[in-house]
Amino acid sequence: MGKPSVEQLRERVRGAVITPGSDTYDEARKVNNAMIDRRPAVVVRCANAGDVMTTVDFAREAEADLAVRGGGHSVPGFGTCDGVVADLSGMRGVRVDPGRRTARAEGGTTWGDFNAATHAFGLATTGGIISTTGVGGLTLGGGIGYLCRGLGLSCDNLISADVVTADGRFLVASEQEHEDLFWALRGGSGNFGAVTSFEFRLGPVKDIYGGPILYELEHAEAVLRAFRELIADAPEELGGFPAFQIAPPLPFIPEDRHGEPFILIVACWAGPLDQGERAVKVFRDMAPVVAEHVGPMPYPALNSAFDALVPPGLQHYWKANFVTELSDAAIAAHLEHAPRLPVVNSTVHIYPVNGACHRVAPDATAFAYRDATFAMVIAGMWPDPADNEANIAWVRDYYAAIAPHSEEGGYINFMAGDDQDRIRTNFKGNYDRLVEVKRAYDPGNLFHVNQNIKP
Ligand SMILES: Cc1cc2nc3c(=O)[nH]c(=O)nc-3n(C[C@H](O)[C@H](O)[C@H](O)COP(=O)(O)OP(=O)(O)OC[C@H]3O[C@@H](n4cnc5c(N)ncnc54)[C@H](O)[C@@H]3O)c2cc1C
Repeated sequence: MGKPSVEQLRERVRGAVITPGSDTYDEARKVNNAMIDRRPAVVVRCANAGDVMTTVDFAREAEADLAVRGGGHSVPGFGTCDGVVADLSGMRGVRVDPGRRTARAEGGTTWGDFNAATHAFGLATTGGIISTTGVGGLTLGGGIGYLCRGLGLSCDNLISADVVTADGRFLVASEQEHEDLFWALRGGSGNFGAVTSFEFRLGPVKDIYGGPILYELEHAEAVLRAFRELIADAPEELGGFPAFQIAPPLPFIPEDRHGEPFILIVACWAGPLDQGERAVKVFRDMAPVVAEHVGPMPYPALNSAFDALVPPGLQHYWKANFVTELSDAAIAAHLEHAPRLPVVNSTVHIYPVNGACHRVAPDATAFAYRDATFAMVIAGMWPDPADNEANIAWVRDYYAAIAPHSEEGGYINFMAGDDQDRIRTNFKGNYDRLVEVKRAYDPGNLFHVNQNIKP
């Protein structure tokens, strides 16, 4: 049997098959990070699980590289490649079961889609802090966000996943079926198959009390020390994170301060709304507040509040570590590098990952760093490719200063393309078991366009 042709593929799938001559090719080959410039042989805009199965079969039989695209936010550009792209971004249906407090989301759903659907029922699960990020990649790598101290990581709320494996089979992975695959999907990233739908457990979250609070950089040390103490045993409904950020031109920030760097805390109280003011006061008391935009709001409003700072088409280069102890030395390294933030889009986030995330054993899911207190990311994002060198240098210098005060490993979803040598470390004690599962479900490494666990 010869290799299948694109014409045969076209006949077999419901969704569009886009090739280099197509009008939509340039749009279809793009991912969020504009630095990524791949020219796929075929992009299949999958319409359903059947299309995903056909596309996986096609890539395997054609012996082509295969990339699976969910939200397209992977910083190293794993949502595209020069071979075959199974683009799930048209598969975005979300069905909420309010009685069981669960939701099922198709593989290309964004967190904006998901939150809008669940919010109507006063329910939510942990998702990313930007609404345009994909549920797929984020959940498969772990999933950190405003709600994780209370509800756990996104992957901790996964009940089951429909998966197309490398041999084109359609499997349901859960605690009851294909448990090894289900274990690996919760943190092991896109290594094990294409997930056509995710079933999540939801918690009672409708409106939250929160938003950004800005302080002068000269108070950054006091704020980080106070945050470190507070978050160790703060109520788990209290989420949010410290960040370094250049002030964008927003009405709540004094006009003469636009363009200056600040330390901020983005607060999110997900408990009873009438307790929000008191819950967030602890942040306001940490240092004099320069500006704030804090109050009650629908959870999806906070989830999309910062979307405009990260439009598609920026250049991205990120570095990250887990942090168990935010030591004074680590804080000093932040204070040295954060004030040199080069551009308004770039940011440094120090996400707390304690609370409910710590109640899951390190070997219960593939996400190993259950003793980390924070997941820290230096997220370099800028509009002009002419500035690549300077911005990458800022990220690398910052990272070199902070890494000695951090854990060796970092969150797989924040890793750069040049971090492939850190994969074993990022999974700590779970790496060998991940290799075993990889051998069982993808011995030929068809799913290798990712932070790759080699069989
Ligand atoms: C602006 C921005 C904000 C972010 N904020 C957060 C945050 O708050 N919390 C957080 O935890 N992370 C965050 N991230 C990191 C994010 O988790 C990763 O970039 C993640 O990979 C994005 O998933 P995606 O589906 O959008 O990306 P894609 O590029 O589509 O996919 C990323 C990887 O996941 C795989 N994948 C995606 N969907 C599927 C699927 N359905 N089946 C199988 N494999 C799939 C892909 O093959 C690829 O390897 C952010 C990233 C960006 C750029």
